[in-house]
Amino acid sequence: MISLRNISKVYGSGDAATTVLHDINLEIEEGEFVAIMGPSGSGKSTLLNILGTLDVPSSGEYIFLDTQIGSLSSDQRALFRRYILGFIFQGYNLLKKTNSLENVEMPLIYQGIDSKERKRMAAEALKDVGLEDRLYYDPGQLSGGQQQRVAIARAMVTRPKILIADEPTGNLDTKRGHEIMELIRTFNQQGITVIMVTHEDDIAAYASRTIYLRDGVIEKEVKHVS
Ligand code: ADP
Ligand code: ADP
Repeated sequence: MISLRNISKVYGSGDAATTVLHDINLEIEEGEFVAIMGPSGSGKSTLLNILGTLDVPSSGEYIFLDTQIGSLSSDQRALFRRYILGFIFQGYNLLKKTNSLENVEMPLIYQGIDSKERKRMAAEALKDVGLEDRLYYDPGQLSGGQQQRVAIARAMVTRPKILIADEPTGNLDTKRGHEIMELIRTFNQQGITVIMVTHEDDIAAYASRTIYLRDGVIEKEVKHVS
């Protein structure tokens, strides 16, 4: 579904230029669950941001199905993010003083869906993450694990094909982290492709494959048997 061909990323120019990704080649099949690991500074976030079209490679090709992502305008990339991708982050990135239902409605507003249908879809997405009794709570009234569930509902309410997760358990204790991973696994089992950066081996173990980055190159790949 995704094909990265000779992707490189250079920050800065001239004497200050630093290459943070070198000739990355990567194929991701529909329905896969891929973990990206590696030391701090190895290029994980840069690679994830390129996959999420939040950042643009300096060279190489990013092909999604039949589409050359590099040939899209920034507006077209925004549509790709809006309709094909869902994002979750370590810090949840929920709107403050905004209840769960309203947070989960946000991406549907951008899709132009009317208010009544948005509320129905958001309530259903929150039910899918076990928060049907927290619709009117603000993030400040929720635990970290619950906030990440709201963020997952917000990512999934648009029915994306790919979930992009940047250290989704990074701020959670072990038990809450595994609960979040069980939830992500459920979505993966429903056919959603998952691409996740993590530092933790026991979190990467939920993936079907782990890619190890070091100094901007893929050092090795390990397939997990489940
Ligand atoms: P990781 O996620 O593995 O910690 P990153 O992708 O965040 O690694 O960073 C890889 C390298 O790129 C690091 O050396 C970082 O300092 C550098 N880097 C990241 N973003 C920028 C930027 N916007 N400008 C310059 N250098 C950057
Ligand atoms: P960190 O890598 O420090 O954990 P995040 O996971 O919050 O940071 O964000 C990862 C990257 O995604 C950053 O480059 C950030 O600018 C970008 N980002 C964060 N939130 C959003 C968002 N809601 N929409 C688009 N890009 C975002």
